[in-house]
Amino acid sequence: MISFYPGPSRVYAKIPAWVADAYQEGIMSINHRSPEFIKISTETIQLLKKKLAIPEDYRIFFTSSATECWEIISQSLVRKESCHLYNGAFGEKWCQYARKLQKEATGKAFALDEAIHPETLRIGKNTDVICVTQNETSNGTSVSNAVIGQIKSRFPETLVAVDATSSMAGVYLDFASADVWFASVQKCFGLPAGLAVMVCSPQVIQTARTIGENNHYNSLLFIIEQMRNMQTTYTPNVLNIYLMMRSLREVAPINAIDKKLTNRFFEYIRAIEKNRHWRLLVAERAVLSKTVLCLQADEQQVQQVKAEAKKAGIVVGNGYGKWKNNTFRIANFPAIEEEEFFKLKSFLENQLS
Ligand SMILES: *Cc1c(COP(=O)(O)O)cnc(C)c1O
Repeated sequence: MISFYPGPSRVYAKIPAWVADAYQEGIMSINHRSPEFIKISTETIQLLKKKLAIPEDYRIFFTSSATECWEIISQSLVRKESCHLYNGAFGEKWCQYARKLQKEATGKAFALDEAIHPETLRIGKNTDVICVTQNETSNGTSVSNAVIGQIKSRFPETLVAVDATSSMAGVYLDFASADVWFASVQKCFGLPAGLAVMVCSPQVIQTARTIGENNHYNSLLFIIEQMRNMQTTYTPNVLNIYLMMRSLREVAPINAIDKKLTNRFFEYIRAIEKNRHWRLLVAERAVLSKTVLCLQADEQQVQQVKAEAKKAGIVVGNGYGKWKNNTFRIANFPAIEEEEFFKLKSFLENQLS
């Protein structure tokens, strides 16, 4: 079975070999304060910066999940209020989590087929962080680097936090245009779940110091302090950090990966456009995600195509949230190999015609 599920998703084919190496080398039992761990952690951070084009003055931290990053942002970077711009399930959930953490959170929903218009955006005077879901995994839309940069330019004093869980390591992200970027690794990174990375601008470090929140194992100040020694505040997923290091050593720089996924994206679009019954959930090209495609038809056709796919050895992603029954999703992630891509493309061409 080839998985095109947009998370947890297909992992790199070399994972079993790297896990075997990790076992041989004793990685699974090393102490997380040891020089051996520090070496792995240091190389992984360096590779992330190099391969993903992350600015030198940005800091990178390891956390357990994207959900944990939502929590860290509310705990450690929001004094009063966060403002959430969303058009789908993950962006909305982030807003709800912020409220659970006793912060005020303003939700600004925007239409599925519309870009955010930073020039007309208004935020409350107590807004500490503007939260954007760069790639909305639930409906296959995305927010461009340009729009994120415009939001930041309009509100330079306010932090801009970006959930890039299903796009980081797959498409080029202009990290310098916002303050906090995070992703868990079971999507575009092609790794097993249980690890996330959080990328922070110098302004974030400054704000964390000013606010001074230090009540939790995952308070950002504590994380910053431990990471000065390339360590974490708790025993981390050392195996997964090692797997990330091994995969980053081999992957192409982000621009090359972006190009490859963009080409595949357009080939999928061409296959879908030939069909009368199927359409993309969102028609507006400018807001489409390149890494998650969301196809819509009536419920019966969705059921049928999923069953046919299964027979052909292909797992497509179920719809999510309010699009659960009348859509299915396709991950266009880097770990998917060329022949697997062709297999799905020809399935779509034949099945959807
Ligand atoms: C999957 C996903 C999450 C949640 O990730 P976890 O690792 O389960 O915390 C959050 N945001 C987006 C956009 C996602 O796709």
